[in-house]
Amino acid sequence: MVKRVYNFSPGPAMLPLPALEEAQRDLLALPGLGMSILEISHRSPTFNAIIEAAEANLRQLLKIPDDYAVLFMQGGARLQFGMIPMNFLRKTGRPASYIVTGSWSKLAASEAQTQGQVHIAWDGKATNYDRVPTNEQLNIDPNSVYVYICSNETIAGVQFPTEPETGGLPLVCDASSELLSRPVDLPRYGILYACAQKNLGPAGVTVVIIRKDFLDMCPDDLPSMLNYKRFAEEKSLLNTPPVFAVYMVKLVTDWLIREFGNLEKVKQFNEEKAQLIYDVIDRCQGFYTVHAAPGSRSAMNIAFRLPNGDLEKEFLKQAESRGLCNLQGHRSVGGCRASIYNAMPREGVVALRDFMLEFYEANR
Ligand code: PMP
Repeated sequence: MVKRVYNFSPGPAMLPLPALEEAQRDLLALPGLGMSILEISHRSPTFNAIIEAAEANLRQLLKIPDDYAVLFMQGGARLQFGMIPMNFLRKTGRPASYIVTGSWSKLAASEAQTQGQVHIAWDGKATNYDRVPTNEQLNIDPNSVYVYICSNETIAGVQFPTEPETGGLPLVCDASSELLSRPVDLPRYGILYACAQKNLGPAGVTVVIIRKDFLDMCPDDLPSMLNYKRFAEEKSLLNTPPVFAVYMVKLVTDWLIREFGNLEKVKQFNEEKAQLIYDVIDRCQGFYTVHAAPGSRSAMNIAFRLPNGDLEKEFLKQAESRGLCNLQGHRSVGGCRASIYNAMPREGVVALRDFMLEFYEANR
């Protein structure tokens, strides 16, 4: 029996065991084919069926309407930071409004500035990016092509509880660390995208859900690999896609459908898990402090601190020795962070909760 720890990494993150087992079982030869997924052509009927099934699963889970295309791209979420303004700002002469709630949306805004006019509709700097804005605080330019958000800031653990009010403008959203963790109101989005290495599968593929009228805006003077329209016309097979990563997205979404059926159930599962940790933090009266303000607390990434750096080091060391791994905070902010995506079982979160209580009793 292989020993697996509870891996609280923010990404690449834990994957559901049944999906890994299926991949392992079929690694030498896909059933009936006699060849590995690692060896087949991306133009083969077998891969075609896999990428179509992955898309169908995403469409079912996220209730993606027909007027949206689903693209499987490369370059990570970060390529999207540049590609979005390259396609939708550079030529329009219109601005986009960016809501800056943390490191990733800040980076996306600065990448967009290289391509066009960026209007900052809100910036959380004054409170050290610990919250999302209220609708009243937003200052959206009504001429914007889109309103940009990062729905869940992975580093600080700050998540929008619901979409911000945009006055009818389409949202463009980096949902890298939360896609498939809860339902989304897709008609409000022009683009919704996520790198895979958190909730969707392994690193290497980025899922981009894009409204088809956005595709019509893509300028012709872009290299084809940077043009969403060309990607969509070729059904993500403009060049060799990350075959294995797409295959894993299919297995992970098969598991989600089998295990939960729909994203309402996934949301409930994730909220219950997150609450177990937030309850401990609140109960330990100041021993643990959570970065996110109430109302903006993420169900995916819980960033917290202990009273001092020495205790944090000791906490991480003891956690690791119990198989509770990768709880260190992002290198830019330090502290601790528990990432509890879909694949983190409730038992893993209970084990962390119990350890946190014990550590509090021993060190308070
Ligand atoms: N956006 C968010 C919200 C993320 O969490 C990350 C990665 N941690 C990124 C973007 C960057 O993703 P990638 O490394 O795939 O470019």
